Amino acid sequence: MNHCYDALLKRLSQTSSDPRRELALMAEYAVGIPADRFLLLQLTDALPLPSVEQERALCALVDRRVGGEPLQYLLGAADFYGRSFVVRPGVLIPRFDTEILIDTALHYLKQGDEILDLCAGTGCIGLTLGAERQVFVTEVEKFDDVFSLLRENAARICPSARLLQADVLTDHIDGTYDMILSNPPYIPSGEISSLGADVRQEPITALDGGEDGLLFYRILIQRFVRLLKEDGVMLFECGIGQAHSIEQMLLSAGLTNPVRVRDYGGVERVVGARKSREVSHV
Ligand code: GLN
Repeated sequence: MNHCYDALLKRLSQTSSDPRRELALMAEYAVGIPADRFLLLQLTDALPLPSVEQERALCALVDRRVGGEPLQYLLGAADFYGRSFVVRPGVLIPRFDTEILIDTALHYLKQGDEILDLCAGTGCIGLTLGAERQVFVTEVEKFDDVFSLLRENAARICPSARLLQADVLTDHIDGTYDMILSNPPYIPSGEISSLGADVRQEPITALDGGEDGLLFYRILIQRFVRLLKEDGVMLFECGIGQAHSIEQMLLSAGLTNPVRVRDYGGVERVVGARKSREVSHV
């Protein structure tokens, strides 16, 4: 491989577990060679030399990456469920784990369903569902800068989505829904400081779930169960070891037929329950 790329690859391997792929993605951004082609040319030692400016831009990206910035912030984009979402510092980067929530939701959705996605962030959950199925999506996000990014993603991925800027803990939100779902902040406050360096670059407001990490589940279940239609489903992403407690909250709120789904790492990552037509006997 040519000398400049070689040196950058070495630098990147200090931080990245997949330096070749990351360099290819950065080269796509800074040099304009599509990442797949970059990897191929790399294999055959046929990469053209970048211009001085391109090399400078690429080096700057590698420096920031080695300095601990998440790749997706550098590229301004993150892949989620086969689509590219705009991301910037200040918004939680869509996670592969969250795709389990999408798969679970798709299992329940019917054409024409109304969906409420709380703590929307990039909008990756609701907008993906709106792009995958003919459903009506409402996205709720509180923070100004994140809300404008949500608007950008909605325009690209699900233009029909209704976007509400509101605080899910306190503001009134109207409507009734067949599905209410959320990936709220769920890290216990005391654990934030021990998160990996990458994660600590992300907004604390999207991570901090209060003392036991369950604050949002408690309040969202209490506030939003009444907006579920009959047979409607409430689904959450959750952190390690939280599914059981959240399931108990859903059942105490009168929902039935609980479901828990593991992610590819074996962690119970999704928890939900249904508002049943039948009267449940205690
Ligand atoms: N999945 C994120 C993490 O573990 C947390 C996201 C959240 O709190 N909703 O880094």
